[in-house]
Amino acid sequence: MSPTEEVGDRAERRFRALVQHTTDLITLVDDRMTIRFQSPSIEQSLGWLPDEVIGTKPIVLVHPGDRSRVILYWRQVQERPGVHPAIDFRALRKDGSWRTVETIANNLLGDDELAGVILTTRDITDRRELETRLAHQAFHDELTGLANRALFNDRVKHALAVAEREYGSVAVLFLDLDDFKEVNDSLGHQAGDELLVETARRIEVCLRQGDTAARLSGDEFGVLLERATRESATGVAERVLERLRDPVASAGPEVFLRASIGIALSDTDGRTAEELLRNADTAMYRAKASGKSSFALFKQSMHAAALLRLELRSELESAVGRGEMSLRYQPIFDLATGAIAGFEALLRWTHPRRGIVPPEAFIPLAEEMGTIVRVGGWAFETAVQQLRAWETRWPDEAGQLWMSINLSTRQLADRSLLPTVEQAIGKAGISGSRLIVEVTESALAIDAAVAKERLEALQRLGIRVAVDDFGTGYSSLGVLEQMPVDVLKIAARFVERLGTSERRPRLVEAMVRLGDTLDLPTVAEGIENATQLTLLQLLGCELGQGFHLSRPLRPERVEGLLARAAAGDPLLVGHPL
Ligand code: C2E
Ligand code: MG
Ligand code: MG
Repeated sequence: MSPTEEVGDRAERRFRALVQHTTDLITLVDDRMTIRFQSPSIEQSLGWLPDEVIGTKPIVLVHPGDRSRVILYWRQVQERPGVHPAIDFRALRKDGSWRTVETIANNLLGDDELAGVILTTRDITDRRELETRLAHQAFHDELTGLANRALFNDRVKHALAVAEREYGSVAVLFLDLDDFKEVNDSLGHQAGDELLVETARRIEVCLRQGDTAARLSGDEFGVLLERATRESATGVAERVLERLRDPVASAGPEVFLRASIGIALSDTDGRTAEELLRNADTAMYRAKASGKSSFALFKQSMHAAALLRLELRSELESAVGRGEMSLRYQPIFDLATGAIAGFEALLRWTHPRRGIVPPEAFIPLAEEMGTIVRVGGWAFETAVQQLRAWETRWPDEAGQLWMSINLSTRQLADRSLLPTVEQAIGKAGISGSRLIVEVTESALAIDAAVAKERLEALQRLGIRVAVDDFGTGYSSLGVLEQMPVDVLKIAARFVERLGTSERRPRLVEAMVRLGDTLDLPTVAEGIENATQLTLLQLLGCELGQGFHLSRPLRPERVEGLLARAAAGDPLLVGHPL
């Protein structure tokens, strides 16, 4: 053997060893695309033995859906010597399944010794799956599987372009769960996650094919409706709200989903995806403020409100510290005698530039930000101190009056509630029996167990519990049955139409009767005229408040009344209306 032969031989042996041991498939095909050589690694990756494929054409192993692409590639390879860019396709395994592979062709047809094309093939199935998963993750919400914000924006953009061409309109719904933070805090994160998944499913079933549902963040969802009208969009919003109201069985019988929805349409409310989404968000806030579990269509006038909200948001946190919060006291009258029975403490924020900001403008914000715990705590303490101060000064006149204080859902869910209350009444030296806390039905429905426990603890301090805005929630009757409730406050909404429609008196009457049956005194809210007052008196409603009787008063005004009563003016105490 000549030295050169020896070198050539060694090179070939090395080459063979390389081919034998590489995990890539090395295939040599001739100019007619027939396999001449196949490395053994094919057995491991595709299950075939080299002998089973040698003499056949590789195209038979290519998925029919990928064949035309592969043939085209092959033609290009034949035309030009050298290495060609990779192509991927699905290759048949012996067991009948498909693997995704990537092949690089090196045209060495002109090479005397090889006279063929070397195909180097690698299994990229796992890599592809990972890529697909990552791509899915990049555009989907992991928890609910819905589109994420990025994909949603993209879809909205695309839909807007289509709508423009077709002179159609696109609707964006912005949905935010009501009081979700409380649920999450009280039931735990796992239950919270389940509720989010449930929400996603319930939204999806309300949509048509082609609509997109997305989770935008936390408890915010977006819905894109293509070819939408005002009517179709509100129809979807109604359906979604309706669906969400069904109890969530897995989370316990007391848990309900509620949401507020804002709607913006591309023909009137925004030309870009960002604008549409922002305006739908703004409308959502309006829905939330006007009583939860409802929807609102965007209006341009809401912009000012949105700006105000932004401004207030940044200033709310420090408003208590700067002494900008104050309380008004609205007298609650004994409707039979006309005497003042107590007061409801109502928060006011005196903003340095905007003047008095009403609670509807900042309480929802404070709830959302969690600031309500501090602000509400301040209100509680201040109202109790106030009652004590009046009593000290006018023991005969103020000694029997009670103070009714609003508690928001968030406060009820917060651990600091009891210590705050105990400390406030301890410091003021006032009996709990002089106090009423007002909570809404939805606060009770959120986590019945926690609400019940907290309220019972308050009752042990002698404090009574009133259901505020009774009749506007969902679980009214169930809640009354299970919850430690002492007083019903009939929402102004029902009182408002007393004397103007047929149905309302019967509703109010039913509520008063319910109070009788359950032995709970009823307080009518929002009495604005004499007719309403008379009807309520006739129905036997015990207590009432409203502008017709008295507006919420500054403390000085209450003091004026107490002083006059002390001076013998029967105007206030014990005087029939
Ligand atoms: P609410 O507890 O139902 O309070 C009654 C609301 O009705 C008060 O509004 C009161 O001013 C208003 N009102 C009273 N009589 C009439 C009437 O004849 N006609 C009409 N149209 N309205 C009447 P306000 O003071 O604006 O408070 C709104 C809501 O803000 C309250 O509703 C309550 O939910 C909340 N809120 C007020 N103060 C506090 C507080 O200290 N803590 C918490 N958590 N919420 C508060
Ligand atoms: Mg109230
Ligand atoms: Mg009320």
